[in-house]
Amino acid sequence: MGLMTGKRGVIFGVANDMSIAWGIAQQLKEQGAEMAFTYLNEALEKRVRPLAESLGSTVILPCDVARDEDIEEVFAELGKRWGKIDFVVHAVAFANREDLKNPFSQTSRAGFQLALDISAYSLVAMTRSAMPILNKGGSVLTLSYLGAERVVPSYNVMGVAKAALEASVRYLAAELGEQGIRVNAISAGPIRTLAASGIANFKSKLKLMDDFAPLRRTVTQDEVGKSAVYFLSDLASGVTGEIHYVDGGFNIIVGAG
Ligand code: NAD
Repeated sequence: MGLMTGKRGVIFGVANDMSIAWGIAQQLKEQGAEMAFTYLNEALEKRVRPLAESLGSTVILPCDVARDEDIEEVFAELGKRWGKIDFVVHAVAFANREDLKNPFSQTSRAGFQLALDISAYSLVAMTRSAMPILNKGGSVLTLSYLGAERVVPSYNVMGVAKAALEASVRYLAAELGEQGIRVNAISAGPIRTLAASGIANFKSKLKLMDDFAPLRRTVTQDEVGKSAVYFLSDLASGVTGEIHYVDGGFNIIVGAG
């Protein structure tokens, strides 16, 4: 028996085999979870489908989280196929490349709205659509970063989006707790992924981890995945509204970020 045996859920945010969502999915599978996956567009479907199928998934659906109707269709389909689900993983973020490069004061109104919409509001829309089919004891998990709390050079509008995301976690947790549904976030250390490639000087963030994180390194997708198993399984049945660092302890260091 695995920690996730008998549990079903959906993973938003696999782009390729470097994605944090993929690290999470592999760990969940190892613990016996059954999963559906979503992909953003046709180009990514080519990568996501074989990965999902390699974990035995047969439910692989399109979803642009900027569109409420896409999100609603995903949960309507899951309701049709499975009736109820036990967990949702939200590992989705986006900001314009220039907004991660230019000074923060130069962020355009449209760029600000886009980053907040895709990276923060989508959690609210997703949770709302999931609520009718989430079992009591269900769990929603999202991914954040230290830039929500501290100024991290070049993280800019994404830091503001992550701050909104973390506040949304707390408001959703407070609301859904009565129904026995938990909402949490993992604030991960820097990991080389497609999304990370849009952040200027990402290499220097990895170097800081090697020099200053208590564990003297950054973390891996699998390590985030192992903490995700905790939040999505009954191990964390008493935990909600938490922003949990999986960053080798970097956040405790004075001047970190
Ligand atoms: P990734 O590029 O593998 O994943 C980002 C995902 O967001 C992709 O699958 C992409 O398709 C999806 N996405 C973007 N716009 C979308 C839209 N409109 N609709 C649906 N999906 C959309 O990169 P990742 O680093 O694995 O990112 C996953 C999460 O982890 C993000 O929230 C990211 O901010 C967070 N995170 C990453 C790091 C890091 O260093 N890589 C650190 C902390 C937190």
